[in-house]
Amino acid sequence: MRLANIDGRLVLRGPGGRVDVAEASGGRFGPDPQDAYRDWDAFTAWARGAGLAGPAEGPAPDGGSYGPPVPRPAQVFAIGLNYREHAAEAGLDEPASATVFTKFPTSVAGHDAPVELPGGKVDWEAELVVVIGRRCHRAAREDAWSYVAGLSVGQDLSERDLQLSGPVPQFSLGKSYPGFAPVGPELVTTDEFADPGDLAISCALEGGEVLQKSRTSCMIFDVPELIVQLSAVCPLLPGDLVFTGTPSGVGMARDPQRFLSPGEVLLTTIEGVGTLRTPLTG
Ligand code: ZN
Repeated sequence: MRLANIDGRLVLRGPGGRVDVAEASGGRFGPDPQDAYRDWDAFTAWARGAGLAGPAEGPAPDGGSYGPPVPRPAQVFAIGLNYREHAAEAGLDEPASATVFTKFPTSVAGHDAPVELPGGKVDWEAELVVVIGRRCHRAAREDAWSYVAGLSVGQDLSERDLQLSGPVPQFSLGKSYPGFAPVGPELVTTDEFADPGDLAISCALEGGEVLQKSRTSCMIFDVPELIVQLSAVCPLLPGDLVFTGTPSGVGMARDPQRFLSPGEVLLTTIEGVGTLRTPLTG
């Protein structure tokens, strides 16, 4: 099934189309989209029992305004240099452990949310976003997927001047302007995928060129390994987001370099998950 934040309300999309969760559950869950993660097991058991779970047909429908599927994540983890070709294009060695930073939660936005470019050099980074469904601390690899509520599409928008301005790179601040962490349009539960670890991922300009194209199976540290490494230190909480890193093809690594301009629209697509649209303004 697929979850969305439509006009600020939790909406489930299963075999029968869209359902407003607060109305369908008699107020037991929702209407706040964050409420799906309060007790993920109870929520999914209710959806199954009500016959609402199961695959949904077609892309995310029009109608209503999409907010982020998780509006208020407690923690937003992001991973640098997690695809071999991206580490190579950045001129850096393949890391021995995950490079972790945060995108501060005020940067989270939804599908089709306009992002005001702050000046400088704003770059694109298409990323698979993992949404945690159950609390986990010191997870074992074989259990890691069981803590995942679902997958979504994200952009790790990055202002490179600020990111690289200090004596050492500071990833978090230059990647946390308002709207710099768009996620959506929907969260797709992991049971909808034959293999949630091998999905096509791409990024393009609307009406223009393809910027990035890869598969999530090309990650250096796959989703279970990221959950192991992150939860070895931080307990992961329901509704937390993990931006899992970007493939090669970012603007900073091009010759000549190329960055985003007002009026351009980014389309970020992950197979079986959806297409996240991100318009850029001045
Ligand atoms: Zn990134």
